[in-house]
Amino acid sequence: MSGRVILVGAGPGDPGLLTLRGADALRAADAVLYDELADEALLALAPPEASRINVGKRGHDAPTRSQDDVNALLVKLAREGKTVVRLKGGDPFVFGRGGEEASACVAAGIPFEVVPGVTSALAALGHAGIPVTDRRHSASFAVVTGHKDPTKVAAETRWEALATAVDTLVILMGMRNLATLVARMLAAGRAADTPAAAVMWGTTSRQRTVVAPLSELPKRVEEAGLGAPAVVVVGDVVRLREELSWFEGLPLFGRRVLVTRPEGQTLSLTSAIRALGGEAVEIPTVRIAPPESMAELDAALGRIDDYDVLLLASSNAVRAVAARAGALGVSLDRPGLRVGCVGPRTAEAAARLRIPVDVVPARADGEGLADAVVAAFEPRGRRFLLPRSEIGRDALPDAIRAAGGTVDAVVAYRTVGADAGGERLARELEAGRLDALTFTSPSTVRHFLAMLGPSAREAAARCVVAALGTTTAAALREAGLAPQVVPERPDAAALAAALASHFAGQGSGGPAVEPKETP
Ligand code: SAH
Repeated sequence: MSGRVILVGAGPGDPGLLTLRGADALRAADAVLYDELADEALLALAPPEASRINVGKRGHDAPTRSQDDVNALLVKLAREGKTVVRLKGGDPFVFGRGGEEASACVAAGIPFEVVPGVTSALAALGHAGIPVTDRRHSASFAVVTGHKDPTKVAAETRWEALATAVDTLVILMGMRNLATLVARMLAAGRAADTPAAAVMWGTTSRQRTVVAPLSELPKRVEEAGLGAPAVVVVGDVVRLREELSWFEGLPLFGRRVLVTRPEGQTLSLTSAIRALGGEAVEIPTVRIAPPESMAELDAALGRIDDYDVLLLASSNAVRAVAARAGALGVSLDRPGLRVGCVGPRTAEAAARLRIPVDVVPARADGEGLADAVVAAFEPRGRRFLLPRSEIGRDALPDAIRAAGGTVDAVVAYRTVGADAGGERLARELEAGRLDALTFTSPSTVRHFLAMLGPSAREAAARCVVAALGTTTAAALREAGLAPQVVPERPDAAALAAALASHFAGQGSGGPAVEPKETP
C-alpha cells in the first residue's frame, strides 16, 4: 500500500493565485509539508485531520531542515500510504528544489505528480505593473538565481554572459548579493541607466516596489529597507510601470481584512475584498451544524403538500432543507409550492439544488423578504414553511402573520462557535496585523468575542469594525465594539466598497509609497 507525493505550486503569495488543481490536491491531502512563506489560507484547504508540517525553508536561506530530511520525510509519509502534498512557493520547479524531491520519490519507488504554480518571477512583476516581455521593449527574458552557491562554478561565469544576452533579466534570491550582482552586470556592459526594480512581497498586501536606474538600485533598495523575499528585474520593461502600475493603487491595497463568516459562505466577501486590492484573512468564528433534533423539520417535510409557500431566508437554510429533503426522498420542486428567497445568493443556492424560486426581493433582508412575500402571495389563509436556525429573528414570520398567514418556523440548522482558529485570531489581533474586522451576522460577533481573551479583545477595539447590515451593527454596539462601517445595502460588494471609502477618508494607508518611484 503506497501513497503518493504531489508537488504543488502554491503561487507567489496571494492565496487566490493557487491553481484549481492545487486546491484539489490540498483537499485530498493526508499530510501537507509546507515552507515558511505558505499562506495559512492554503493550509486551511486541507482536511482538518490532515497533518501540517512546516519544513521551514525560506527559499535557500537558512533552511531549518535539510533537503535530505525533507526528502526522507516525503518518502516515509508516502510509504505509510498517505497522500502527501509538498506545498512549495511559486512553481515547484523554479528554484524550489522540486526536482530533487521528485528524484527522491523516483529512487524510493513512490509515485509523484506535479501541479505547476504561478511563479513569483512573473507574478511579482505583473503586480508591480511590469510586463516581463513587451513588443515595445523586450523580446526575451531570463530568470536567474542571485543566491551565491560556492559549490557551483557555473555561477561564476554566468553573469558576464547574461548581463547583455537578454532584454529582461529577472533575479530571484538576489537581495543579499544585490550590490555585487549589479557591479558584475555593469562591468559586463549593461548600461548604468537601464531601468531596474525590486518588488518585495509581490502580490500580497505587503507588496513594495522600488524603481531606480540599475547602478543606483542597491542604494535605493537599502534606503527603502527592502529585503527578501523580493524579485529584482532589470530591463526597459520597467519603464512601463509608470503607466501600468495597477495593484498598489487599488482602494484596499495594503489592508488586511478579517472575514468571520463560515467557510463555504466566505467566497463573495473574500472576492469582493480581493477585487479592491485588499487581503482577506479568513478565520471563521462560527460553523453550521445540524439541529439537535431533526424531528420538527422531518415532520414539516413530511406534510410538505400542506404548505403554499417555502421561505428561504439564508443559503444555510437552503442547504439544510435541501439535504434533509433529499435524505427523506421529498422533492421541493412541486407545482403547488411557491418559493421565496431572501436575496440573489440564496436564490442561486436554491437553483443549484433544483428548487425553483418564485420571489426574490430587491432588498435582501428579512423585512425585504416579508414585504415581497406579502405583495406576491396574499398571505391570508395560506400556510408558510420557514426553515431557519434556532436563533432566527421574528421580523419575517411576524409580518406574514400580521397579514393573515400561518407560519411554521422550524429549526433546520444551528450556528455554533468555530472549533479552531482562536489562537490564530488572537495572534493576528495582538500583532496589530488586521486593519479591519467584518461581521455578517450577530452570531459571528458573539462567537468572535467568545474566542478571545482580554488582550485580544482590546486589540480588536483598535481595528476598523464593519457590519454587513443593521442587525449585525446593533449586535456589535451591544457588545461594545461599535462599527464604523455599515454599507447601505447588505451585500458583500457594498461592504468592501464601504470599507474602501472609509480608508480613503483616512488618507493613504497601507505600506509607505516610495519617494521618487521612477528613474
Ligand atoms: N519557486 C519559487 C521561487 C523559490 S526561491 C517561485 O517560483 O516563485 C525564493 C525566492 O523567490 C525569494 O528569495 C524571492 O526572490 C522570490 N519570491 C518568492 N515569493 C515572492 C514574492 N511574493 N515577492 C517577491 N519575490 C518572491
